[in-house]
Amino acid sequence: MNNLEFSDLKEILKDYQPEEIDIITKAYNFAKQLHTGQIRQSGEPYIIHPLNVAYILAEMHADKDTICAGLLHDTLEDTTTTKEEITQLFNVDTANLVDGVTKLAKMNFSTKQEQNFANTRKIITSITEDVRIIIIKLADRLHNMRTLEFKSEFKQKENALETLEIFAPLAYYIGASRLKSELEDLSLRYLRPEIYFKLQEKKLFFENNSNNFLYEMLLKIKNILADKQIPNEIKIRTKNIYGIYKRIEEGEQLWNIHDLFALKIMVDDIENCYRTLGYVHTLYYPINDKFKDYICNPKTNMYRSLHTTVFGPEDKLVQTQIRTFDMDKVASFGLSTYWDIKKGEARNLMQKDLKEKYQFFKSLTQINAMFDDNKDFVNQVKIELFTDKIYVYTTKGEIIELPKGATPIDFAYKIHTELGNTMVECMVNDKPVPLDYILKNKDRVKIIADKLSCGPRKEWLEKAQTSYAKKRIREFYKN
Ligand code: MN
Repeated sequence: MNNLEFSDLKEILKDYQPEEIDIITKAYNFAKQLHTGQIRQSGEPYIIHPLNVAYILAEMHADKDTICAGLLHDTLEDTTTTKEEITQLFNVDTANLVDGVTKLAKMNFSTKQEQNFANTRKIITSITEDVRIIIIKLADRLHNMRTLEFKSEFKQKENALETLEIFAPLAYYIGASRLKSELEDLSLRYLRPEIYFKLQEKKLFFENNSNNFLYEMLLKIKNILADKQIPNEIKIRTKNIYGIYKRIEEGEQLWNIHDLFALKIMVDDIENCYRTLGYVHTLYYPINDKFKDYICNPKTNMYRSLHTTVFGPEDKLVQTQIRTFDMDKVASFGLSTYWDIKKGEARNLMQKDLKEKYQFFKSLTQINAMFDDNKDFVNQVKIELFTDKIYVYTTKGEIIELPKGATPIDFAYKIHTELGNTMVECMVNDKPVPLDYILKNKDRVKIIADKLSCGPRKEWLEKAQTSYAKKRIREFYKN
């Protein structure tokens, strides 16, 4: 929305308390006054940017402090106000959020590069204090990416690359998949415009040609669910352009991508998810090895759903995703779904979930503790967390997330330090493998430990990929 006005923001804040809307209005007026005279490269008054950021946050049903911080997010950096003033006029929480998204001052660094690494670290680690800082930063980045056409080609590519390397993975980890998809597509549009526009055109062509059979399926499934009295909603979704691009890069043909199209079937409860699965399979034959139960076994970013790819009409493969309405919210908005459930406590619940359920959180904290140098930290996060990941099973069926290239040594130390230190052998899918075996997606990993083992071997240091495993091995030798 380019011609967004404050009344549009107010319009989607209808469900908020009048006192909350008053404070948000105050934040808008304050920011507008502070940014007076500043112009964006698009030629618009600057306030249009924070207003859009606040709007994106309001679409996610953010709490009032977060929306105020969205409106004020560039004031510390670009205007005369101070953190103290924001605390006085609003509250400490809002001031901390604005401070969290503000870049570190130039004067503390001798080079631009050093400043960049320090800022990237500040953004990434802010998740350990308050994940809302990241969410505001993602909304900020999204609006900047949506309006990237006004920047120089050099800036466009630089921002697009940073978005793809840092911000899209962050959005993935907190489960904000809508943000992630749009950020990825916008990045590709500026990084590889020829490919982006070609794929966009092809995707449109496929969509137009697939509408009929997808609707045919949708109606058939809807009828049967109505017949069985299962409350439901069904939507058609196509993969984002970046997702298609990645698969083609891996050597697949566009028309062979089995989840290019998906039917999203949302029902009221878990029991009905499984009943629905049965009905879908009576209508269409499934491909057996494409079935996934992410309800019992959630993805590491808490995504839950049943996936089954079936032989649809006209010999087309169609993925169906079956989940409850609540799971669907988590699938689209991730952690920020708490804003919908319990606005007042959302912040604490988000931080608690991050600590207890999200595997990347622990890895991030460890990497943060291990690397003093900002550049080393950022590079390690990119290698270990923000590049391609693999998912393997423990013998109990738990899913463990590891960077691509990880070995049984990384796996063992990720489970428990003691397990790593006493490991003697490893079985993958019931067969013995060497300890430098490169784990693959869906491997079932069993570590055989012996309390009498002599501890980790020195050469494991080269065979381990994760900084955590390396750290534990080094510690063993220090003691
Ligand atoms: Mn901004």
